[in-house]
Amino acid sequence: MSISRSLVLTLAGNRVVTSFVSKYGMKLGASRFVAGESLEEAVRFVSGINKEGLIVTLDHLGESVYTKEEATLATDESVRIFEAIEKSGVNSNVSVKLTQLGLDIDPEFCFENMDRIAAKAKECNNFVRIDMEDTPRLEVTIDIFNRLLAKYGKEHIGLVIQSYLYRAVDDVAKLGENQVNLRIVKGAYKEPAAVAFPEKSEVDDNYVRLVQNHLLSGCYTAIATHDETIIHILKKWIKENHIDDNLYEFQMLYGVRNGLQRDLVKEGYKVRVYTPYGKDWYPYFTRRIAERPANALFILKNFFKN
Ligand code: FAD
Repeated sequence: MSISRSLVLTLAGNRVVTSFVSKYGMKLGASRFVAGESLEEAVRFVSGINKEGLIVTLDHLGESVYTKEEATLATDESVRIFEAIEKSGVNSNVSVKLTQLGLDIDPEFCFENMDRIAAKAKECNNFVRIDMEDTPRLEVTIDIFNRLLAKYGKEHIGLVIQSYLYRAVDDVAKLGENQVNLRIVKGAYKEPAAVAFPEKSEVDDNYVRLVQNHLLSGCYTAIATHDETIIHILKKWIKENHIDDNLYEFQMLYGVRNGLQRDLVKEGYKVRVYTPYGKDWYPYFTRRIAERPANALFILKNFFKN
């Protein structure tokens, strides 16, 4: 992790910074990364972007929830997303974070909430993916995922693996034994060198290796990156190795590399846009700034322009 990225993540935890950004965030530019504060706004966005050939995964923002009431409300909202998708006929699935469903309160309570969401995904013949958070939550996230995988099947539930982790290669191999649908990402949290590659080049090399390994195991793989070099390497490798086009998709974040998203669609690739919405956008927003500190300058400029 570069010093500047680490600095942004540290600053983001500062109380003064948190309260300033929370107050002025939408004006500061959070709307560049968030599709709106309500489900209705988000569905309208999906409907529009579907017409351009892009598909979506909707994420109701929120994490680190500390009461059972909040976790239950967040669970209700994810269930409501599936209902809204079905009713509107838009092409989208759903992504969730376990800390929003009460993981830090009681893992068994979180499991029950996630079970309710996965049951709804299956009932609507749709799909839910559990995002991966920081390493203290990794083992329990994989446990909860495996229990639900056994109950609902890989067509209805998937997981995320982060290439910055040393253990990722073993996790991908193990999950591949059950033909799990995985999204591969580089990883967005502040992790120590004891568990994560400190060098970007190592994270990138591992990224390519993980995608290739998972595809060679015959497993569905979501290639979630904006890294054009990696996308180029993988497109070439996929062609040379005659990988079935039904076995993978590209994924990018709402508001990031919009041109590249559309270029890939024009080339005939399946591209899914991770689209967050909701009022609790602060932690998500700060991770997006940390990934590319130049975003902070862009956003500050906008603030003074408005
Ligand atoms: P980088 O090397 O960071 O970036 C490559 C290029 O992409 C940059 O040069 C820049 O041009 C562009 N870019 C990247 N980020 C930004 C940005 N914020 N703003 C503007 N331009 C940018 N992480 C998790 O830890 N857990 C998850 O569950 C998770 N889910 C994700 C789902 C999706 C669909 C995506 C795309 C990412 C997800 N991430 C998740 C975030 C991921 O781990 C990375 O932090 C993020 O994608 C940036 O890495 P990159 O692969 O784009 O490569």
